[in-house]
Amino acid sequence: MDRNSYLLLPTLQTETQTQDENDISVWRFRGSDNATKASSVTMRVICFKLFAECSPDVGKVLLPLAHGDPSVYPCYRTSIHAEDAIVDVIRSGKGNSYGPAAGILPARQAVADYVNRDLTNKVKANDVLITVGCNQGIEVVLQSLARPNANILLPRPSFPHYEARALFSGLEVRKFDLLPEKEWEIDIPGIEAISDENTVAMVVINPNNPCGNVYSYDHLKKVAETARKLGIMVITDEVYCETIFGDKQFVPMGTFSSIAPIITLGGISKGWVVPGWRIGWIAMNDPKGIFKSTGMIQSIQQNLDIVPDATTIVQAALPEILGKANKETFAKKNSMLKQNLELVCDRLKDIPCLVCKKKPDSCTYLLTKLELSLLEDIEDDMDFCMKLAKEENLVLLPGVALGMENWVRITIGVEAQMLEDALERLNGFYKRHLKKTEFSFAALKLSSDNGKM
Ligand SMILES: *Cc1c(COP(=O)(O)O)cnc(C)c1O
Repeated sequence: MDRNSYLLLPTLQTETQTQDENDISVWRFRGSDNATKASSVTMRVICFKLFAECSPDVGKVLLPLAHGDPSVYPCYRTSIHAEDAIVDVIRSGKGNSYGPAAGILPARQAVADYVNRDLTNKVKANDVLITVGCNQGIEVVLQSLARPNANILLPRPSFPHYEARALFSGLEVRKFDLLPEKEWEIDIPGIEAISDENTVAMVVINPNNPCGNVYSYDHLKKVAETARKLGIMVITDEVYCETIFGDKQFVPMGTFSSIAPIITLGGISKGWVVPGWRIGWIAMNDPKGIFKSTGMIQSIQQNLDIVPDATTIVQAALPEILGKANKETFAKKNSMLKQNLELVCDRLKDIPCLVCKKKPDSCTYLLTKLELSLLEDIEDDMDFCMKLAKEENLVLLPGVALGMENWVRITIGVEAQMLEDALERLNGFYKRHLKKTEFSFAALKLSSDNGKM
C-alpha cells in the first residue's frame, strides 16, 4: 500500500485560514462562497480531520479504512482484457480526437446493449449519454432538474455527492430514511410524507452504498408506483451492480420504466475497479417519452454541451470492455470482498461496541452500529473515530459523514492483512475504552480465558 499512498492520503488541507497581513480592501475580487455549503457535506472534510489526528509517534502504519478505492491494491487489478482494450485504442490513434458532447456513438450503443441484457423495455443508443464517471451523471442530472423552489428526495444514509451537488445546484434536499431493521428498505410512507408539489425526483442507490443491500423486485416496484403517484422521476444509481457477493438477485430499476420514468446512472469505476478511467453513463428508461415531452432530455443534453467530455480513449474501448463482460469478469473481486467481509464479521464478535446488524450483499463497505453504552469516554461516532485515529492510526468513517449518527463505516475493499491489523487495533481500543462494570470485567475475563486477549 505504501507504493500508492499518494492516491489515498490527503495532500491538501482545507482549513488553512491563516492570519495574513494583506490589506484586501484594495482588491475587488473575493473567493466565491458558493461551494462552501456543498463541500461541507462531503466526506473529504471529515477524512482530513481524521488523518490530521494520525501521527508517526503511534508507531503503527496508518490504515485508511474510511473511504474506499480498491484499485490502489494490486489484488484488485482490473482484467488484462480491459487493459488491452485501452492499449489497442491508443495504438490505433482512434482515441485522439474530441468526441460529441453526448459521447461517441459506439460507446453509447455499447452501454445500451449492456443495460439491455437485463431489461424488457429496451433503451436505444440515443437514450444513453456518456459522462466523466458516474459523478458527472449525478451533477448533470441534478443541474438539469434545478429550478426555483424545486426539491429532491435523497436517502439517509446516502452517498454524499448527491447532497453536495443538489446544494450547489440550488435544489432543496429532503431526506427519507433507509430502515436498518428492514434490511435497509426505503421508508415508502416517509417519502409521501416529505414530498409536495415542488418535489421533482427521488434517488435510489441500488446496490446500496453505504448499506450494502440489494433491493428486491417487489420493493422497487412499490418505489416506482410511489413515484408515479407523486408525479416524480426516479434517479437510480447502479454503479455497484457488478459488485454483488451475496445471494440477492439484482433487479435494475429500469424494469419499472413503464410505471414511472427512470434515469439510470452507471459506470465502470466500481465493477471493473478503474475509477481513474473516469467513464460513466446516463441511461434514460422512458418508453412513454415523458422525458422528451417535459424537456428533460434537452436540458440534460444542453448541460452536457457545457461540461468536459469523457476521454475519447476509454469511450472507444467501451464496446470491447462492456461487450466481453460476464460473471467471470467480476468473480475474483467479489469473492475477495466476501472473504474480507467474513473476516471482519468474525473478528467483530469480540468487539461488541460495533455491531453488524445485517451482513451486506454488495459494495465495499460494512456499516456497523456503534454501541456507545458499552464505552466509557466516547461521546459519539465522530469522537470514536477521532480517538481511534489518534491512538491507533486507524481511520474509519463516522456515520455522521453519511447522515447516520452513531454508526461507523469500515471499508472492506482493501488487502485482507490490513483488515486483520485493523481489527486487532480495534479490539485493543475497545478494551481500553470499555465501561468498567462488573459485567464487563466478567466478559473480559471470559475472553482472556479463551485465549483471545
Ligand atoms: C463511487 C460512486 C459514484 C461515483 O462513481 P465515479 O464513476 O467514480 O464517478 C457514484 N455513486 C455511488 C453510489 C458511488 O459509490
